[in-house]
Amino acid sequence: MTDLTHDLADRLTRYCAIDSQSDADSPSSPSTEVQLDMQRLLVAELTAMGAEDVTLTEYGAVLATIPGTRAGPTVGFLAHVDTAPQFNATGVKPRIIRGYNGGAITYPDDPALSLTPEAFPYLAEKLGHDIVTASGLTLLGADDKAGVAILMTAAERLLADPSLPRPRLRLAFTPDEEIGRGVDARLPGDLGADFAYTFDGGKLGEIEYETFSADGAVVTIKGVSIHPGYATGKLVNAIHLAAKIIQTLPQVTLTPETTEGREGFIHATDMDGGSSEMRIKFILRDFEREGLEEKGALLRQVCAAVAATEPRADITCTITPQYRNMRYWLESDMTPVELARESARALGLDPVSVPIRGGTDGSRLTEMGIPCPNLFTGMQNIHGPLEWISVQDMEVAMRLCLEIAGRAAKG
Ligand SMILES: [Zn+2]
Repeated sequence: MTDLTHDLADRLTRYCAIDSQSDADSPSSPSTEVQLDMQRLLVAELTAMGAEDVTLTEYGAVLATIPGTRAGPTVGFLAHVDTAPQFNATGVKPRIIRGYNGGAITYPDDPALSLTPEAFPYLAEKLGHDIVTASGLTLLGADDKAGVAILMTAAERLLADPSLPRPRLRLAFTPDEEIGRGVDARLPGDLGADFAYTFDGGKLGEIEYETFSADGAVVTIKGVSIHPGYATGKLVNAIHLAAKIIQTLPQVTLTPETTEGREGFIHATDMDGGSSEMRIKFILRDFEREGLEEKGALLRQVCAAVAATEPRADITCTITPQYRNMRYWLESDMTPVELARESARALGLDPVSVPIRGGTDGSRLTEMGIPCPNLFTGMQNIHGPLEWISVQDMEVAMRLCLEIAGRAAKG
């Protein structure tokens, strides 16, 4: 390993070992206390490397400034410190497989698991690389500790070397991205950047400026509750009505598992309750406003149709906007996207832009006035036990960060 890959691997494995999982059901901000363990560490490390204005905000984000050596726009760089709630993230034991030999990667804590280049062709491209994985029982958390490690390593290099050209740079490490609460209303003002980038993407060369547009929906079904022994002709079972709603919604189209590319979906994520009252949560996704509206209208229509079969029940459907496709704003000024593309080409990469079937902190930030495309880190198979990343991919991402900073500087 070179000094640089050693630094990146060291940061990644140290950060991944810290549990910082977010929790969608927690009302607090940040949603979990453990995220502050990461944040306090970043504050200490940024302060030690000489960053300016190092702050841990009330809403749990860490902000810092890398002073500029040239004029130019203020450029923001972001990564999120939380890891996904979908899989065990406690007790992560990251390990480095040095000089990957092209074979199957097995897991000490779960012999049934294996990561193979046949199943994951991108791995076949990483012969000789240093691959980081978890041990089998947890996710790795490269999403987005890789982004954090890339930015921290870049910051350290910039701060140690004033001859590296850059305008004023602002760093932000956000909590709660995975639960869609990474961008507090105060963040755009506190960040104070002309435009920004998240390092939260996958394959080398990916520069993304299109995300889903997203709404959340909650359907509440109130039945009529009565002792089952005296229920004849009176009881209305909310569970049966909930089942009818699920059954009436499309099952072989318009679901995440039956759509791809630019198609949107309606996804039932949660159902709880009992015979007297049930609650079903959905997420609605589409790349276009019209498509998203259609999905909301379909869900309402299904609820109304089921409600019509049982007038004694009370069925409500509440739809709440979550985030919007960042393309709506970026397509009118592609400067940040073009700067990233030029920088990637200068590093010998072939930039690719595919629409993200999800959102990033940049979706909200763009909507709130700071254009913010998403850049690759190298992370793969995120949110599960087979998550992995190449340290050499992270190195390229870190060089991209320096290149963007250099090209943003004027003169
Ligand atoms: Zn992420």
